[in-house]
Parts: sequence; structure tokens; C-alpha cells
Amino acid sequence: MPSFKTLDDSGDVRGKRALVRVDLNVPMQDGAVSDDTRLLATLPTVTELADKGAIVLLLAHFGRPKGAKRPDMSLSLVTQAYAEVLGRSVQFVPESAGEGVAAAIAVLRPGDVAILENTRFYPGEEKNDPALAAEMAANGDFYVNDAFSAAHRAHASTEGIAHLLPAYAGRAMEKELKALEAALGSPERPVAAVVGGAKVSTKLDVLKHLVGKVDHLIIGGGMANTFLAARGVAIGKSLAERDLTGTAEEILDAADNANCTVHLPYDVVVAREFAANPPSLRTCNVHEVAEDEMILDIGPAAVEALADVLKTCRTLVWNGPLGAFETPPFDAATVSLARTAAALTQEGSLISVAGGGDTVAALNQAGVADDFTFVSTAGGAFLEWMEGKDLPGVAALMR
Ligand code: ADP
Ligand code: MG
Repeated sequence: MPSFKTLDDSGDVRGKRALVRVDLNVPMQDGAVSDDTRLLATLPTVTELADKGAIVLLLAHFGRPKGAKRPDMSLSLVTQAYAEVLGRSVQFVPESAGEGVAAAIAVLRPGDVAILENTRFYPGEEKNDPALAAEMAANGDFYVNDAFSAAHRAHASTEGIAHLLPAYAGRAMEKELKALEAALGSPERPVAAVVGGAKVSTKLDVLKHLVGKVDHLIIGGGMANTFLAARGVAIGKSLAERDLTGTAEEILDAADNANCTVHLPYDVVVAREFAANPPSLRTCNVHEVAEDEMILDIGPAAVEALADVLKTCRTLVWNGPLGAFETPPFDAATVSLARTAAALTQEGSLISVAGGGDTVAALNQAGVADDFTFVSTAGGAFLEWMEGKDLPGVAALMR
């Protein structure tokens, strides 16, 4: 992989101003941070830099103010919660670029930490305006990007600024890039990919990229229905995109040509109504789905066969649940296969990397998120990486 610099390359940072792009875009409820996962993810980098005596200036976006100053999207609302998580006092600076910042940070001492105002209050942020990037860069001696989740956007604080200062990957970014490289960059083979979720249309580019990369492509979730329909299977009232059966066929052909084995379920869990534990619940062969039934999960025989596939593999990358996991018992296949992957990882025979909003929720529901090698909470950036795209925020660090 083209290499990037990390904090190990940053030399003596004592007294230097570190502009650190982090993800502070936390959910709020009644004025309080309702999930501090993203705050926690910044701690290794921020603590390390502060302990080494840098003046740590955090750059982040918060919500979608679209270039306007919105008091309800001010990072001042997050500063107290951040200070508590960090266990140190944290200053808030009501601007993120220019002279105002320079004046506010002039009084900071080595080891101090400050949060600068929401970068998206500036119209130039999302336009990657070079003038804004330069005004941000003027307040720092070096730049650290620790926000993989924002790296798929070429913004002033994620991309432009990286060209103006010595730039390093933070610890969370470094860990994520190494895990992703191990999963799809230069993985140990055989490699399996699980792709599930509701729709083929949201993951077409993921599927197209993966067929050329992996040895086994396991398709589940609602999108498996479109593939089954493409193969002429009657899928009743199942969620499917019938206008995409041609595309599904093309993906199956591309997989054939690339020696990628595609696994579609041969038994499924169906019901006539979509509800928890519905009376019409049954498991059947894919060829026995009635006209008024819908497929809501893949079946136990399919899961057993997939577990056997994973046992032969060295690497697994997973995005998308295998069934409608929010509604019991349609989480059964996802939970079971996730536990198999977790056990194989713990035994040391499998490197497992997963990502996606609902996938993370499903792995938590199965109680195995900590047993995977790496679970990405990056959402859009993770999907773009699975599509094989270059992420501008990452590319700017590769020098
Ligand atoms: P992620 O957020 O991990 O990328 P997606 O958003 O693509 O995953 O897909 C998750 C959604 O897919 C869940 O809400 C789940 O209920 C739905 N889903 C999975 N299988 C089915 C199915 N057979 N029928 C209907 N919905 C399904
Ligand atoms: Mg989702």
C-alpha cells in the first residue's frame, strides 16, 4: 500500500500547534451527547499529543449547517462532554480559521486542548476552498487527520489543509487503514465477503468491486432476493428490485469470470406478514416460497454451509445483515454467522473486518463486535472503501 506518515513520524511536538481533524459529530438528545463512541475514538491521538506537550486544536464538523453559523450546531455544545471523556479541561474557540483563532490560542500552553468551532459554519469548508484551508493551516505547525469517517469528502479541513502542513494519520485513522488494508488491500487468502442489507441498488458498486477481489461472495438480506429472482426463483412478495435482475445477472457473470464463488441461500425463513414472531413463520427451500410469502432471513441450512465456507477462509469482510435483523426471529442467521466469524477470529484462523451502520448494530446485538478483528463505524467512508474508491482525505496523507 502507498504509505502514510503516522504520529511516530511527527518528531518533537512540544510547544507545536497540532491541528487535529477528528469526528465529533455525535448524536444529541435533550441537549446532551447520547452516544460518546466517536468522542472515545479520538482519545488515543489527543491524549498522546497533549502528553507530548503539543497544543492540540481540534477541527471537526457537527451536523449540516451548510455554511451558516447555526447556534444549535455549535461545537460549544459538545465541549463539556468532551472534557469529561478526555479527563482534562478543554477550551472552546468560537471560530475555526483566521485571526480570531490566532488570538484565542495565543494563551494556550503545551498540553492544552481546544475545540475550534464547527468547520461547516464556513461555506469554503465543503467547497474545499484553498483560501479557507490556508486560513486554517496558518494556526497550526502540523496537521493530523484522525477522522476516517469524514475522509471520503474532499473538504478544506480533511483534504485541502493536508497539502499545506506536514500531515500525519492519527492513531484511529492508522488503525482503520491498517485493518482495511489487511482485509482487501493485500489480504491472506482465501477471502470471503458477506454483503447483505435491504437493496442491491445501494451496493451495486460494492458488489462489482468485490467480485474481482474475493474468493467467496456471500449474498444475503433483501438483496439476495433480487439475485434469486435473476436466477428464475419465485420469491413471492419478498422485497426485491426486479428492474435490477439484469444487473444481478451481470454481477453473477463477472464473478464466474473472476473465479469468485457466489453463495446464495438455498433455504430461507418466510412469513406472510412482516411482524415479530408472526404465526405464518416457516422455513423452506428457496424453491418453495408461496406467492403470498416474503423472505425475511436466510435459513439454517444455508447458515451452516456458510459457516463451513468461513472455516476454509483466512479473511472476511462483512457489510449488511443477512435478514431483517431488527425483528425477531429474522436476526437468527446474522447472529449465528457473526458468532461463527467471531469464534474463528478468536481462534486465530480468521481476520474479520466489518462495517456499516446496521451491520455494527447487528454485531452488537449478537454480542460479538469486540471479537471481530476490526469493526468500522465510519458509515459512508467504509462503503466507499468497499467500492474500491480512493478516499480524498486518505489520499492526501499518502505522500
Ligand atoms: P448497513 O447499514 O450495515 O450498510 P443496510 O442499510 O444496507 O446495512 O441494510 C440493513 C437493512 O436491511 C436492515 O434494516 C434490515 O432489516 C434490512 N433487511 C435485511 N434483509 C432483509 C429482507 N430479507 N427483507 C427486508 N429487509 C431486509
Ligand atoms: Mg443502513
